[in-house]
Amino acid sequence: MKLLVATRNPHKVDEIREILADVPDLELVGLDDAGIAYRDEEEEIEPYDTFEENALSKARYYARRSGLPTVSDDSGLEVDALGGAPGVRSRRYAPGDASGDAQHAANNRHLLAELAGVAPEDRGARFVCAVAFAGPEGEEHVLRGTLEGRIGLAPAGDGGFGYDPLFLLPDREVTVAELPGDDKHRISHRGVAFRAFEEWWVARDPGSTGGVAS
Ligand code: IMP
Repeated sequence: MKLLVATRNPHKVDEIREILADVPDLELVGLDDAGIAYRDEEEEIEPYDTFEENALSKARYYARRSGLPTVSDDSGLEVDALGGAPGVRSRRYAPGDASGDAQHAANNRHLLAELAGVAPEDRGARFVCAVAFAGPEGEEHVLRGTLEGRIGLAPAGDGGFGYDPLFLLPDREVTVAELPGDDKHRISHRGVAFRAFEEWWVARDPGSTGGVAS
């Protein structure tokens, strides 16, 4: 069965493909493969204050445009010393209009500036990933995964993407960007959420219209 992986972030597409690689009878299709061209209106489809609502909004939008069963991920970083910021605004945290990897680098510089003077023990943070499924018949399902850690004093490592070079694993002086890909998926918010999705997907009754669960 075809499943549309609805994200414009190429790093997320790669990670999701790796995490779901062994699911039987599943063909993952990207937005480009499905011919879903970028539209300006896509900037307006994640206006909500929770990862779950934004993930579901994206999944519904792309399911409507494609006619395919669609899975979407809304994710980000919550920093305790910043009251949970950047949270659902993680992608556009730094001021300015950079995009792609330049935007990730600007976000990391901005985060370090906002945390200047905050002691290592007060830099607790977590990655959050909400995964939402929307089927063409109205079936919906939402799941969440998290990874607890701390924000380092300087970036380290060149794996992963986004805030990974600043995100230290609990009780270790190792950032997520210093882990090999497989190790990131084993522990990451996205790995946890998509493995739960996989379990649900494999067990689900395709005839059901379902409900929203988390
Ligand atoms: P989204 O595309 O609106 O879900 O934005 C997600 C943003 O959160 C990304 O652009 C990154 O800044 C950040 N983010 C999400 N997942 C990760 C991750 O696995 N590592 C590092 N940063 C992440």
